[in-house]
Amino acid sequence: MIPGLNDERLHELGEGQGFRFACHPGVPCFNQCCRKLTLWLTPYDALRLKRRLGLTSQEFIERYANVETGQNGWPMPMLAMREDDPERTCPFLGESGCTVYEDRPGACRTYPLGRATKGGTGGGPSQEAFFLVREDHCQGFAAGREWTPSQWMQDQGLETYNHVNDLFLPIITRQAPDPDPQIIARKMQMFLMACYDLESFRRFVTTSRFRELFVIPALRLELVETNDLELLKLAFDWLRFAIFTDDTLTLRQAV
Ligand code: SF4
Ligand code: SF4
Repeated sequence: MIPGLNDERLHELGEGQGFRFACHPGVPCFNQCCRKLTLWLTPYDALRLKRRLGLTSQEFIERYANVETGQNGWPMPMLAMREDDPERTCPFLGESGCTVYEDRPGACRTYPLGRATKGGTGGGPSQEAFFLVREDHCQGFAAGREWTPSQWMQDQGLETYNHVNDLFLPIITRQAPDPDPQIIARKMQMFLMACYDLESFRRFVTTSRFRELFVIPALRLELVETNDLELLKLAFDWLRFAIFTDDTLTLRQAV
């Protein structure tokens, strides 16, 4: 899904079809696209940015996001544009461009493409399609080399972004309905902790009965103590197990 864009600006790229594009500080529209954005921060976006900025996940969300409710009822942190600027620029836009360039969100990397995925529950989607997104103000289409979608994804460092976002799909694309509002509220809290508060989720894994309840290989447990990405993957597995009863984790026999 590409929020905020109407269909006329989207052109699906057929098999083997490419596009011409160049974006660099010399383009007349440089940084025009970094304002008034409706940009959803995925859990991996938040992880990269909080680490870049030396913040905890909670500090990052409090300072840089407005948490809205998404289509399936899940909390969705949206990147907060600067309110002290009538242009509503991105908080990470500096005089020379993006100040978090190496850790910029996946959506910033993917433009001018949109990536749509469908199906798949474990390691990735069963179908993938790419769309060319033509924003009126963007002059990047006027010159530059030809790209295929996969060349663009590689050039923009999107492999891990797409991989982790695909692992998140089986959660975000499903609803967690329940007649009891207290249970719904509890599920939302679990979602926020697992996806957007990694320090709390790490405490939960290391200090609660988590290890007694689940069979988790020792190496994986060791990794999650220091590695945020491995922790996030475990968080997705736990959410799927706890909310949708997917077989992503195994309970110990005696439990
Ligand atoms: S994160 Fe960087 S590239 Fe993305 S909108 Fe903000 S300034 Fe622009
Ligand atoms: S509007 Fe297009 S060409 Fe201009 S800076 Fe943004 S992405 Fe690059």
